[in-house]
Amino acid sequence: MNFETFRSIGKAELHVHLEGSFRMERARELASAKPDHPWNGLAAEALRRRFKTSSFVEFLEQFMSGYRLLKTRDHFQMVTEDLCAEFERQGVQYAEVLYSPGVYVQKLHRELVDIHEGIGAALAQFPKLRVSFILDTVLNMGLPFMSRTLEMVLHDRPEYVRGFSVGGGQPDLDMAQFLPLFERAQEAGLFVVAHAGEVDGPENIRTLIEHTDIRRIAHGCSAARDPELCRELAGRQIAIDVSLSSNLCTGTVTNLKRHPIFKFLEYGIPVTLNTDDPFYFQTDLFNEYQLAEDIGISWDKLLEIMAFGLEFR
Ligand SMILES: [Zn+2]
Repeated sequence: MNFETFRSIGKAELHVHLEGSFRMERARELASAKPDHPWNGLAAEALRRRFKTSSFVEFLEQFMSGYRLLKTRDHFQMVTEDLCAEFERQGVQYAEVLYSPGVYVQKLHRELVDIHEGIGAALAQFPKLRVSFILDTVLNMGLPFMSRTLEMVLHDRPEYVRGFSVGGGQPDLDMAQFLPLFERAQEAGLFVVAHAGEVDGPENIRTLIEHTDIRRIAHGCSAARDPELCRELAGRQIAIDVSLSSNLCTGTVTNLKRHPIFKFLEYGIPVTLNTDDPFYFQTDLFNEYQLAEDIGISWDKLLEIMAFGLEFR
């Protein structure tokens, strides 16, 4: 597959975090203005070396350093503009972008209105692109913190915020305790997605599909261990958002040739291909499709995946 052919085909990116999508030069520029930041003064190569993580915990550490780079309305505008420009470059016509304002507002004392205005100003520059933002709340912060974040966003909800998600987590986390959040988000008219089956087991995916109107599952890797669950996902046509590079970098999968995507396709579960945190995983959407092709997914299937993603517009 060559890039020109790839970009000429309309497609969607349905799982990318705003705070994981910096352009290298932008990250270095933002860090250079913060003398006490661990990335201050680092060359691109040195930063890339830092991101060669192999576990979820190591990745989160890097993610939190980057997260702290964004402070003002202009910062949020800049990184959103960078991401939208990247969507256009890749031939993305529809995107769902996760953002995590909870820690910014509740711990780092940033203003939610600045975050929302910055993002809104950026989106206004790209009228041809359709972008939905998804509020991603961090499971590890606990239910009361997540609930406050959700209420805060619902109170100041811009038109472009259309979805709710949960992310982070740990192996023994029980998703059931977070169901009231999904209920509240759905009542308020948000669609719901969730990170599940990345570090945790298939039972959390089951909880979500049984008790919420979940739109798609992000990662969902552990579902592959549970044939009954795979049949259910296929039966209900609930899609899994696959991110190949991400799964390798966080150690969720150790060999792409044995990635659960093969099981998903075998069972007839719809899948999408996504970057997740392209800055940290040093990837882009084209690279994710190339990786899929490299491990043996056919061009016809890839075209089907591109067309399928646009159905969420
Ligand atoms: Zn993610």
